Amino acid sequence: MSRNPNLVCSREHHEQAPISGVCLNQQCQQNRAFCVACKVEFHKGHEADYMHFQAYPQWIATCLKPYQEFTPFQDTVLQTSNKLNDVLNLANNFRNQDISTMSIGQLEQYTKGLLTLKSSEAQLTSLINKVKADIGNLLLLLKPITGQQSASQQQQLIQSQSTSGIKQGGQSIQQVQPPVNAQPTQLNLTFSDKSKISPNIKIEKGGKQASGIGFVICDFVIPKDRDSIFAFKYNSGFSIALGLCYKERTVEQNYSEKLQKTGHGFYLITSASMSFSHSDEQVNNKSHKFKINPPDVIALRIKSSQKSLTWIINKEEVLVILQIMQTMTIDLSKELQPFIDICGVVDLVDA
Ligand SMILES: [Zn+2]
Ligand SMILES: [Zn+2]
Repeated sequence: MSRNPNLVCSREHHEQAPISGVCLNQQCQQNRAFCVACKVEFHKGHEADYMHFQAYPQWIATCLKPYQEFTPFQDTVLQTSNKLNDVLNLANNFRNQDISTMSIGQLEQYTKGLLTLKSSEAQLTSLINKVKADIGNLLLLLKPITGQQSASQQQQLIQSQSTSGIKQGGQSIQQVQPPVNAQPTQLNLTFSDKSKISPNIKIEKGGKQASGIGFVICDFVIPKDRDSIFAFKYNSGFSIALGLCYKERTVEQNYSEKLQKTGHGFYLITSASMSFSHSDEQVNNKSHKFKINPPDVIALRIKSSQKSLTWIINKEEVLVILQIMQTMTIDLSKELQPFIDICGVVDLVDA
């Protein structure tokens, strides 16, 4: 921002002079925004801390740049946690083996495996203890940043940005004429419906990125009168489930426990290679061969005339063996919305 012409000083005798900058002095107890008269009256003696609007954008960038660079670290943390999860699963597997039924060959393998686990344990314990202390300190630092009073204002800022995102998205879709040929309409989605997000999910990048553990429902109703497509990029994490759910449905935190029987209100596939259908017993709670791993891009294509939903994993790899498609029949008589359930980081991307 250069100068905002709407900002004028409301202090007595300052005659609505334009606000020309903000005071950055850490000890200063006065209002940060100043006009020419404010500088003399309230901010004398720390002139070096005046930030005029000409230089403000540069300063904002300086403040925020390091935060951008934390994202790769966040990915590393998730990947590390992912790997650790694999190791814990392996250990669990060992715990659950019945040695009384093993052949000699199996016993050999089993013992070798245990020896590998045992030989890594001491180093692992020592490293994890070290990291634990640092992570504890990191948490202590992170908490107050979003816990301050200003956090609610930050939230408001983010909220208003993402709300305008929805409007733009909605309008642009309405302006699009139903396509003459079969090209599906690219939906311009945002993660934004505040009432339909798990508390442990963070929405960032103007509503284009969701991270954390839990579910998000995009505030967008799937068009019934034309084919449409949208895509998620599974950046990092342990698990993802993605698809559609009925708009009128309230999603509880433990919704996944109710997916075993149809009628649950979801059409989903998961990174555990499962499919769930609200209306088709043949594909509900069924295991498949497809795999979803970071950083896969998963597109969802809805053919309204055929009432079908197709997941396309890594479109760009169509000519390679990695391309996998899963098609499901969906009931479009009620309004459906895009839904994801994640433990990780997911972006909304172009399909
Ligand atoms: Zn003033
Ligand atoms: Zn000051």
